[in-house]
Amino acid sequence: MSNWPRAHPRPIIAMATRIGGVLLLLISIAFQGQQTRTSAALISGTSASDTSGRARAAGSGAFEAAPGRTPVYRIKLRVHNGQTTLPGAELRKSLEEMNSIWWSQAGVCFEITSTKDDARAREGFDIWFVSEVPDPPGVNGSYKGDHDIWSRDYPDLMPAPHPVTQRAARTSAHELGHGLTLRHYNGYPESADSLMSSGTLGWRLHDFQIQAARARAQQKAEPDTTPTNCSAPQVN
Ligand SMILES: [Zn+2]
Repeated sequence: MSNWPRAHPRPIIAMATRIGGVLLLLISIAFQGQQTRTSAALISGTSASDTSGRARAAGSGAFEAAPGRTPVYRIKLRVHNGQTTLPGAELRKSLEEMNSIWWSQAGVCFEITSTKDDARAREGFDIWFVSEVPDPPGVNGSYKGDHDIWSRDYPDLMPAPHPVTQRAARTSAHELGHGLTLRHYNGYPESADSLMSSGTLGWRLHDFQIQAARARAQQKAEPDTTPTNCSAPQVN
């Protein structure tokens, strides 16, 4: 039983109430539209909401491309894992996180296959995972050409406010950033969180970096840009 008064309002009052209700509804729809636009703008930048979105997506195997980062460019990546000391599961997790760094922020998906040999691919990129980068010795990773990229299994990386989960994901994603024309981003207040700073656990990309990387990615991408879930890496 309701406790509300049961008096029936006269028709004119009922109509006024209904109009008021419609107006309220319209106003609230307008406000929601505003909020949606605001959060979309935040996500397309490198904001805190971007962080949690990517962190949730990481490791799930299927990621949601950031708005405004379409079409997704798919680039072949041959992973050489004949010498790595990373256990298979850890390497797969690292590659998934590496992919999510690029896919969620820049709409670039690496289509990963693995090989134990050193034969280079004809397209895309080649990357080696090794316990020690042979040249120059002691570095975390190096990019010497699209088919000459090296990533240390357990790189030495400094803390970042929003760190990656897998260290190898950061170094490999960073080297691929060089492959997509990006330079280092050192000496700025937000450098620690930046993917392109030297030697940190950061993974974020700035808009200007996303634009430059996408321009190069477009040249290297497969012609097919139909929507993709950026599926899990094929690593044996
Ligand atoms: Zn570098």
